Amino acid sequence: ATPVGLLTGSGRGAQLGILIKGPQVLEDTRTVDTILLDKTGTVTTGVLAVGSTTAFGPFDEQQVLRLAGAVEAASEHPVARAIAAAAKEAAHAGPGSAADDDSRLPNVDGFRSAPGGGVTGTVEGRLVLAGRSGWLRDNGIEPSPAQLEALAEAEAAGATAVWVAVDGVPAGIISLRDTVKEGSAAAVARLKDLGLRPILLTGDNAAVAAQVAAAVGIPPADVYAGVLPEGKVEAVRRLQAAGATVAMAGDGVNDAAALAQADLGIAMGSGTDVAIEAADLTVMGNDLAQVAQAIELSRRTLATIK
Ligand code: ADP
Ligand code: MG
Repeated sequence: ATPVGLLTGSGRGAQLGILIKGPQVLEDTRTVDTILLDKTGTVTTGVLAVGSTTAFGPFDEQQVLRLAGAVEAASEHPVARAIAAAAKEAAHAGPGSAADDDSRLPNVDGFRSAPGGGVTGTVEGRLVLAGRSGWLRDNGIEPSPAQLEALAEAEAAGATAVWVAVDGVPAGIISLRDTVKEGSAAAVARLKDLGLRPILLTGDNAAVAAQVAAAVGIPPADVYAGVLPEGKVEAVRRLQAAGATVAMAGDGVNDAAALAQADLGIAMGSGTDVAIEAADLTVMGNDLAQVAQAIELSRRTLATIK
């Protein structure tokens, strides 16, 4: 189902662009005491920038980016969009290129995506994998100690590191950077003022998660990093089992199950359709402040009704 109503408590819901699925949602927002915040695309912009690419040989940096970009072009994950865009841009820098020429990236066959893991496909006859190091391991690819060293360096610097493997061998690492949304810190403070405990939840590495948490005022104990999509649902269930009434704000395919499990699922309007369908409430802007506004407004609305 898609959102059916506007939160129109004081007529401000429509102005604020907050969509709710039904009146029951107002009841649920009232009792929420814990809020899980997905990192990528919810607390951060989700518009990542590719920094450096490290190549392990025999392919050079440019080739690693090109092969990874070809596979990522078939995915809508924020990491994928960034890598595909950087690969296209690098290809465009070549002779006789046009800025809007998508044909510069090779085709991919047998594309497959593993939410919270990475993507795979065949490019120019080579099997390419791009994703988290743990996911590459699950696929039987073992980085060498020197390669793991390169990963540790990238992650310590606060980057999201994506591994690229070609024909079963690690070929390189692509480092990406996200930006915390301008209003996120203020929004987190507001959620706290509303009596909620904010928890950062992400499939990304611990170093990146810690930096983002620090930037928005979430204590280290309330950072859950390296969490797979199935683990996100588990995190909601565990908190519920401990007596919490849980809201979850997210935008990705990987957040959908957790949004459905939460007492109050909140989707970012820019999020994937799957997330919006799973959520009880959608904030049309991408501002985390709207999440706080939605909770404030529904509480006030309910107080007026009662
Ligand atoms: P988040 O919880 O921050 O939204 P995800 O659960 O979607 O992140 O992904 C967790 C990690 O898995 C990412 O940080 C990235 O390392 C890896 N990953 C997911 N999708 C892709 C992809 N399409 N390409 C490369 N890596 C990916
Ligand atoms: Mg996300």
